[in-house]
Amino acid sequence: MTQETWGHVRGELLKSVGKNNFSAWIEPITFEEVADRTAHFVVPTNFIGTWVSQHFGDVILRHLISAGMPVERVEFAVGGQNAAPATGNANAAPRTVTAQPAPVPAAANPVVEFNLNPNFTFTNFVVGKPNELAHAAARRVAEGGAVSFNPLFLYGGVGLGKTHLMHAIAHELRNNKPELKVIYLSAEQFMYRFIRALRDQDTISFKELFRSIDVLMVDDVQFIAGKNSTQEEFFHTFNALVEMGKQIIISGDRAPVDMDELDSRIASRLQCGLVVDLHPTDYELRLGVLQQKFETQRERHPDLKIAPGVLEFIAHRVSSNVRVLEGALTRLFAFADLIGCEITMDMTQECLSDILRASDRKVTMDEIIKKTCEHYHLRQTDLMSPSRARNVARPRQMAMYLCKKLTTRSLPEIGRKFGGRDHTTILHGVRKIEELISLDSQIAEDAELLRRMLEA
Ligand code: ADP
Ligand code: MG
Repeated sequence: MTQETWGHVRGELLKSVGKNNFSAWIEPITFEEVADRTAHFVVPTNFIGTWVSQHFGDVILRHLISAGMPVERVEFAVGGQNAAPATGNANAAPRTVTAQPAPVPAAANPVVEFNLNPNFTFTNFVVGKPNELAHAAARRVAEGGAVSFNPLFLYGGVGLGKTHLMHAIAHELRNNKPELKVIYLSAEQFMYRFIRALRDQDTISFKELFRSIDVLMVDDVQFIAGKNSTQEEFFHTFNALVEMGKQIIISGDRAPVDMDELDSRIASRLQCGLVVDLHPTDYELRLGVLQQKFETQRERHPDLKIAPGVLEFIAHRVSSNVRVLEGALTRLFAFADLIGCEITMDMTQECLSDILRASDRKVTMDEIIKKTCEHYHLRQTDLMSPSRARNVARPRQMAMYLCKKLTTRSLPEIGRKFGGRDHTTILHGVRKIEELISLDSQIAEDAELLRRMLEA
């Protein structure tokens, strides 16, 4: 089997196991080779190997077979550079695990349209600074009153809650305004429907359907950028609905102006409505999401215990993508459930070692200098200058301190970055800030704030 086939099978697996399971269990495994009718995978830890084998071995095998692979078994072995050291009895599982289910032909996976995730509600959506505008706009649209901003365009990076908010709007409208005809679909599904209509020479009913809607939601519009006949049709649907005063809600991964291949007419139409973006999550929002998921989980498993500081640790270390955050928690709960004990810090570090490694964000000295200047309202040339004025010297020392703490640069390297200063000057600056942090709460606050911004 080639990596390409595995890429295809991964796509199928995503559909059958769901995004959450996918990111917790399928993403961490790497396909290696097929040998002796066995598909070999590398897993980052024994625990993941055991779990994937027990819970997803069958489905992986089934998809491999239906992709035409001559396999009868799947095997998971710990290895590769991502291997975590096997420590503690939590890892007493065998290094290699084999799933050997009877081969079953995979059921065709029909494209399910207008399918709403019951968990994607407003109640389950944690609001914080990075998403409060998007949330407020979604709430307003969900009231179903007079159309005030049309279209509503939500954009932001993956896993920040665009789909969640759109489903929440749909749930809310279905409950409160059942008379409205609401349709939610991805831009991809829109395209497939359109292509099918063309093929079946039935574009009339396609147009009728889409022109009879009260609220149309199209997710991930970037998908149709560059697909010209679909864009054309989308544009007409869009205009027809806007003219009839119907609400349209669209999401994308970028601002309309930044989507290169998006029809400029569509882009300017989108620009006419309300465009709001979801910012990358910050520490507080991540912690809020983790606490909420933990509480939900505990309702089902009242025995679940977690050591103090674990959620804070995850919020601090795992990336801004909420899906990755959820995947991490899912895995942790499974682990605790399996070995029946409290979730401790050690267990967390071991169980999530691959995710923690992947999200180790590298902060650069340039970013530190830029953010420090912004924070103190200074120009970079001033920060680098020889000036010893306190209002410049302190921020400069702060930047040196952060370079030492947040990067792996040596003192001479930092010295060179700061206009060829001697390493003893840097050391002095670092020590000075360390000392002030314990004496001066303003300095301590500045350091903490900057560190958080840089690591967010
Ligand atoms: P996007 O569509 O932006 O890629 P999703 O809406 O699919 O992201 O969100 C990814 C996952 O993260 C979903 O399971 C969603 O429920 C969850 N999620 C995202 N933002 C939040 C939030 N603010 N509160 C709770 N869960 C969230
Ligand atoms: Mg989405």
